[in-house]
Amino acid sequence: MTTPSIELKPSSHPLSDAEREEILANPGFGRHFTDHMVTIKWTEGRGWHEAQLVPYAPLSLDPANMTLHYAQTIFEGLKAYRQPDGTVATFRPEQNAERFQASARRMAMPELPVDLFLAACDALVTQDRAWVPGSGEASLYLRPFMIASEVGLGVRPANEYLFVVIASPAGAYFPRGVHPVSVWLSEEYVRAAPGGTGTAKAGGNYAASLVAQAQAAEQGCDQVVWLDAIERRWIEEMGGMNLYFVYGNRIVTPELSGSLLPGITRASLLRIAEDLGYEVAEGRISVDDWREGNEDGSLTEVFACGTAAVITPVGSVKSARASWTVADGQPGEVTTKLRKALLDIQTGAAPDPHGWLHRV
Ligand code: PMP
Repeated sequence: MTTPSIELKPSSHPLSDAEREEILANPGFGRHFTDHMVTIKWTEGRGWHEAQLVPYAPLSLDPANMTLHYAQTIFEGLKAYRQPDGTVATFRPEQNAERFQASARRMAMPELPVDLFLAACDALVTQDRAWVPGSGEASLYLRPFMIASEVGLGVRPANEYLFVVIASPAGAYFPRGVHPVSVWLSEEYVRAAPGGTGTAKAGGNYAASLVAQAQAAEQGCDQVVWLDAIERRWIEEMGGMNLYFVYGNRIVTPELSGSLLPGITRASLLRIAEDLGYEVAEGRISVDDWREGNEDGSLTEVFACGTAAVITPVGSVKSARASWTVADGQPGEVTTKLRKALLDIQTGAAPDPHGWLHRV
């Protein structure tokens, strides 16, 4: 089977420059979408076909569409940043393409070739280039996803799938300065168990997380922190972000346990922190380690990381048993330094030593 090229069928009525500029002045997150999308079909026996860039429009779904019932759906999230010379670059998109393939394997869905994933993202960014915000932390967020498109109520892998990429302008996550979040340690609900779907970016994981997030909000916390499913002792991740624990010059992130999502920001920070001279490790951190490290002062900072917010400091922790402030509750020095180092690479303000930017 050959890789199809993307047929361009652009909109004859895109938003006017003035309408687009009004949106870009205050885009928020995930509220507005660009003029186009890319769609690619997959059919059993035929493979990937009908790759096309078309006007952004609703999908028409039969009520018996399999995804609506059995949740065979996966997604990705990556950003395109405007560079100082006016060009646009996405950040490590091949990593998203590979994770998308891993998610597909876990969910018994077909794997989209990496070059087709990249071509789809590039085609959309090229067409909707004017939607990439002008500068700074603001970006164009790309949301590739795949659903089963077969109609029927039998529980089995589908024989038809639809891959789509849409794009949404995103403002700076912290427009008024970086603000630490408060977290709730969820001991009642778990996000993922060994052998489950935690390492996949599958829609169902997020559906299952919402009740715990609501519980965190009831407790007055911004985010939920997930513990391991077996002992409810080991720290896994926070909402839709990975976690890092800073002990002075030593930085530790929970190891890839088999039930947490291997974040691309997490992986990038392992390299950047090493480049900046920190001692970096992947390991196991328990709830007790967190509380005790806080009490004896050895734990100096905690932060979360992910594509959407880049890096978010964690200021305070609450569980059914205890609550504590992380150090002085303010964004720490290492957190601030790493955040700037990563954003500088993404936005082209600093050199890109690892070749992470993909020019579109
Ligand atoms: N964990 C979860 C559960 C997530 O949904 C995300 C967002 N993709 C992350 C971590 C961070 O991953 P990334 O750095 O690739 O955005």
